[in-house]
Amino acid sequence: MDLAYGAEDEQFRAELRAWLDAEVPVHGPPPPPGDWAARRAYDTAWQRKLYDAGYAGVAWPREFGGRGLPVTQQLVYLEEYARAGAPYVSVNFVGLMHAGPTLIAEGTDEQRAFHLPKILRGESVWCQGFSEPQAGSDLASLQTNARRVGDEYVVNGQKIWSTRAHVADYCELLVRTDPDAPKHRGITWLILDMHQPGVEVRPMRTIDGESHFCEIFLTDARVPVRGRVGAENDGWRVTNVTLRFERGTAFAQHIITLRSQLRSLVAHAQRLTAWGDPGLREQVGRLEAHVDALWRITQRGITEAEATGTPAPSGSAVKLRFSELSQEITDLTMRVAGRAALGGVRDGGLDGAEAARDYLWSLQYTIAAGTSQIQRNLIAERILGMPRSA
Ligand SMILES: Cc1cc2nc3c(=O)[nH]c(=O)nc-3n(C[C@H](O)[C@H](O)[C@H](O)COP(=O)(O)OP(=O)(O)OC[C@H]3O[C@@H](n4cnc5c(N)ncnc54)[C@H](O)[C@@H]3O)c2cc1C
Repeated sequence: MDLAYGAEDEQFRAELRAWLDAEVPVHGPPPPPGDWAARRAYDTAWQRKLYDAGYAGVAWPREFGGRGLPVTQQLVYLEEYARAGAPYVSVNFVGLMHAGPTLIAEGTDEQRAFHLPKILRGESVWCQGFSEPQAGSDLASLQTNARRVGDEYVVNGQKIWSTRAHVADYCELLVRTDPDAPKHRGITWLILDMHQPGVEVRPMRTIDGESHFCEIFLTDARVPVRGRVGAENDGWRVTNVTLRFERGTAFAQHIITLRSQLRSLVAHAQRLTAWGDPGLREQVGRLEAHVDALWRITQRGITEAEATGTPAPSGSAVKLRFSELSQEITDLTMRVAGRAALGGVRDGGLDGAEAARDYLWSLQYTIAAGTSQIQRNLIAERILGMPRSA
């Protein structure tokens, strides 16, 4: 596919840029960290504005309420969104980036008709209930069980690390429906309504003093059978569709944002006179080249997703390199910020507290959505065709 931008793409860019330049300043900065009710209101209100202006679900097919943009304009959208510093997708991440796309690929007409418009309009927030205390990398070992009673599943068990579950309405939930089958064959993918008795959400505190994720305790929680995505016990296949979206195209926005992070690092270094250090300039040049290369690979991944309907396994390579680059850039920013970062104070134009927060947050990227070791295993087996280890 030719990824050069044509006249129509540039016209789309100009329209989008004008809209973002008008709307982003009006929407204002996000609420202070920790106020999750305010954060949900802020993020969902922004999503509604995107929807009303025709910029929600730009990659989703038109028949499912999206804009169905050609791939070049999806890329322009990501570039302009990052350039404008528009609000991070945040609480809408799971719904827009992998639950919605999974429903498009695997859901029933009824599930799509009910859930997709709500996700696009910012009316429902989703979380992911995959990991358990004893099932992270080895996700197929999960033990949360669902027993079929009439036209419902009755669910019992515990999930952990569910990002923003404390503000979620629905959960993409993995459960064991056949305890006697081999572990990959007894799993089912369910849509759990979070607002019901039997669903207890406990936020967890992290190193930055925040509560980004939660434990979910399920005691006789109910899911109607029509809330099952895919067939009973076919959930591992559906999970792989979700994970390909999560590890593939979902990170595109983050990757293009690395470019802005690097540019603001340079601006700060110039103000603080650190830019005179040739070693620093060399490191910035190297990182810039890596970000450009990763953006090219991401463009290819988006093109493949467009052609086939699901991202290719190369998403693992993208996710792996993105995680490392993010850590390298925030680490360098911390070193440029020096004492300002350690003290969490402002120095010139640099917000030390924000630099420290970004650095701490970047540590999670090599764990979330599958650790770097697991991505390397996937690259070895599914892309390079190497044999599985014993
Ligand atoms: C910020 C963040 C957000 C998250 N959000 C969610 C969410 O919303 N929903 C959700 O369900 N989960 C979520 N997770 C959980 C995440 O998917 C798991 O943490 C991750 O899959 C690793 O599982 P684990 O923590 O149990 O580590 P473990 O699986 O116990 O791994 C421990 C170490 O052993 C290594 N290891 C394990 N197996 C292998 C192997 N076969 N080969 C080589 N090395 C191996 C790992 O790489 C790691 O270094 C989130 C995690 C983070 C950090």
